Amino acid sequence: MKDTYLWKVVIRGLLLRCPRCGRGKLYKGVYKMYDRCSHCGWVFEREEGYWTGAIGVNLVVTELIAAAIVIPLAARQTPPLLLYGFGLPLMVLIPLLFYRHAKSLWMSIDFILHPTELR
Ligand SMILES: [Zn+2]
Repeated sequence: MKDTYLWKVVIRGLLLRCPRCGRGKLYKGVYKMYDRCSHCGWVFEREEGYWTGAIGVNLVVTELIAAAIVIPLAARQTPPLLLYGFGLPLMVLIPLLFYRHAKSLWMSIDFILHPTELR
């Protein structure tokens, strides 16, 4: 696999574009996805349960961001009530904010694991 393939697929994922052609948009609403690419026809949900990997991506990113924020606060002896008051809402907000990119990055990971001809 060439580096250009990897970067193309990752950048397309970050831009919420079709991983195959990079032109078709993934979302028609805030959380509503198109079934297939409007440009190349690629079906986004490859099989039943395909988005389980996106849930994993979202979980890992949420945990990393929350840990990066909360652990330094805890190390500075921040009162526990303040930590919970700040940390618990993060565990709800981050997955909601990252939901769209979790799905698109999951498709990028799928393309990296199962190389497909790009257009
Ligand atoms: Zn496409």
